[in-house]
Amino acid sequence: MVSSEIKNFGILGYPVGHSLSPQMYKAAFEAAGFINYNYIPLEVHASKLYFAVEGLKGLGFRGVNVTIPHKTTIAKYLDAIDADALVIGAVNTVVNDGGILTGYNTDVSGFLAALAEANFLPEDCHAVMLGAGGAARAILWGLCKKRAECVTIGARNPQKAQALANDFLSYGHVEAFDWNTDEFKEMLQTADILINTTPLGMFPEVDGMPPVDLKLLPEGALVYDIIYNPAETKLLKTARELGYPTLNGLSMLLLQGKEAYRLYTEQIPDMKVMTKTLEKILYKK
Ligand code: NAP
Repeated sequence: MVSSEIKNFGILGYPVGHSLSPQMYKAAFEAAGFINYNYIPLEVHASKLYFAVEGLKGLGFRGVNVTIPHKTTIAKYLDAIDADALVIGAVNTVVNDGGILTGYNTDVSGFLAALAEANFLPEDCHAVMLGAGGAARAILWGLCKKRAECVTIGARNPQKAQALANDFLSYGHVEAFDWNTDEFKEMLQTADILINTTPLGMFPEVDGMPPVDLKLLPEGALVYDIIYNPAETKLLKTARELGYPTLNGLSMLLLQGKEAYRLYTEQIPDMKVMTKTLEKILYKK
């Protein structure tokens, strides 16, 4: 199908130069025959966010992806917020339906779809999550939605971890620890999955790794690092060498993009094209 209708999309953040979204969505639009769909980096300072959001309506934008630092602050300028984004307190996708702007968070569905692709069932699992930032909030909500038996948060800042746990206590069994304590190490021994949501090990600081003794994990526990650059972080390499199954963050990135594309177009993108595009940029494949 070839569409001649002009529609605008973009990534709203500050800065946005590093974003992979323009290439990923452009490739998917082209593969689907949306030849007049534009995808533009929209570098907008926090002080100008209100004007930029209002401008989306006037400039005929069908949708935008939202990144740091606007994920939480953009909500007050939108007309409606989807249920997931409301619980998480962050918006990463905005859809414009005839002047009505709705905010969504597609990280949740991206995370859960990535687990499903890896054949990991979160229902009744004990998940140990490292870090308590923005991505951790979306992942914690995904695990609670799927009725994980228990989620243990380990972080360098136990106050932040506890504050995150407190926000989700009514949705599931969530506990928070300083990741250097013996109590936390004990929790590792019953984990079905360990999820790193910190940037430790991300390019260019590839020698970084969260201070976790992976040998404490039970045999077969999935070690999941949501970092996608490099493809194999030091955490994942160590886990693989110890015999644990591993998963990196590329599938979550792609699958949250798939959900945003579906919200924009009511169609499913060509995932092979999106994957190839990102692998070429990230891993020079
Ligand atoms: P964020 O909101 O800044 O949260 C980062 C978390 O990591 C915080 O808990 C922070 O602790 C902790 N942290 C940061 N530096 C640390 C260090 N040197 N030592 C120990 N802990 C540290 O960031 P985010 O948006 O959640 O993103 C986190 C990571 O996830 C990034 O690598 C990002 O690329 C990745 N990510 C991947 C996807 C995907 O689709 N695969 C999606 C979203 C994010 P403090 O609060 O103490 O600073």
